[in-house]
Amino acid sequence: MHFYGTSSVNDKGHLTIGGVDTIELAKEFGTPLYVYDTQLIRERARGFKQTFDQLGVTSQVAYASKAFSSIAMIQLIDQEGLSLDVVSGGELYTALKAGFNPEKIHFHGNNKSAEEIAMALDADIGCFVVDNFHEINLLSGICKEKGKTASILLRVTPGIEAHTHDYILTGQEDSKFGFDLQNGQAEEALVKTLDLQQLHVLGLHCHIGSQIFETTGFIMAAEKMIEKMSVWKQKYNFSAEVLNLGGGFGIRYTKDDEPLAPGKYVEDIITRVKSLMDEYQLTMPEIWIEPGRSLTGDAGTTLYTVGSSKHVPEVRNYLAVDGGMSDNIRPALYNARYEAVIANRPEAKPESVVSIAGKCCESGDMLIWDLPITMHSSGDVLAVFCTGAYGYAMANNYNRIPRPAVVFVENGEAELVIERENYEDLIRHDLPLKVQHGGQK
Ligand SMILES: *Cc1c(COP(=O)(O)O)cnc(C)c1O
Repeated sequence: MHFYGTSSVNDKGHLTIGGVDTIELAKEFGTPLYVYDTQLIRERARGFKQTFDQLGVTSQVAYASKAFSSIAMIQLIDQEGLSLDVVSGGELYTALKAGFNPEKIHFHGNNKSAEEIAMALDADIGCFVVDNFHEINLLSGICKEKGKTASILLRVTPGIEAHTHDYILTGQEDSKFGFDLQNGQAEEALVKTLDLQQLHVLGLHCHIGSQIFETTGFIMAAEKMIEKMSVWKQKYNFSAEVLNLGGGFGIRYTKDDEPLAPGKYVEDIITRVKSLMDEYQLTMPEIWIEPGRSLTGDAGTTLYTVGSSKHVPEVRNYLAVDGGMSDNIRPALYNARYEAVIANRPEAKPESVVSIAGKCCESGDMLIWDLPITMHSSGDVLAVFCTGAYGYAMANNYNRIPRPAVVFVENGEAELVIERENYEDLIRHDLPLKVQHGGQK
């Protein structure tokens, strides 16, 4: 098996993470359970940050909190000195409640509401990543009412196709996000915002997609943006203080994935950006990046308890676990692939092939197709790796399944950071019927 971060095997032959026996975790906290290797998150964070420092480039590494947002997670990000991206009032609320410095919060989103904008202005967040003309008017209007100014980045779509799954591709021209760089919308947005007293244009932003394994796409996007920056410098005397190149750095979900180390992404991209700045004789801006998945993805493991199985002769063996698309919708949503082991004997040789089914009432609720697996029986614990990004974040209550608990493990200690939902939580907002619709009066 492939070990992530601090994962190992103890003298009982059990999978351990952060020095904690996963079988004990399953016993103590129940399953399904998300387990985060916080040391690995710290390592990833430092990998990005330190490379910028070594290259002598002023930077902000902003964690895209949509990948996994919770009070404890945001506090961990704070400990590592990163900045934070939020894309909704809810993510902003979580960050503020976690005590995160608002100046280091960047607000994304293609349809921020007036309430969300007002909330962010009241909290004095660091910057808004402005996505469209509607938002320019809305934001400047609310700033005016409040007598405030807002720092902004303009989100541009540079028209780069990142090689990844279509559904999670955002840098192309046919995208719901951002101002198009090629058709003149980005320039129009710049001219408009430079003119508005309430808005201070810090610079430009792009995000070309997710789960990207090469630096070519990032570099092409940077080239397009820097070329425009040079034009806009001459035309409008606009100097970008910030160039934000987004997130999307890939991780290893299965043996077929070959990501680069965080520092390697930064090194390659920055080297090219520096030489372009020289070429165009522009002042080097601050470089911001926004890793989400690459900070938390492979640091997360989901533990399930194995339940029923079904043998379809000459077709397939199904093995069902006590979770599924309610705690990990990615396989159903974008055919995401994962690896897993029986946590009581992670190193035992695979003896058969099974497909891991969830417990939801959907045929599409499959977690892993064709997983080579060792001997197993009902009651064993299955550990699915790399579920730390967009797992809990996309968890839902389909079939009224309560959302699992989350624990952080480090140095042999486990800490519960999100409690498991209970049935009471599920009906908390339900109201009983008061009116006898259609009944006799
Ligand atoms: C989703 C997103 C990210 C993070 O993407 P990952 O693939 O998780 O690194 C960063 N920036 C923006 C604008 C995003 O939408």
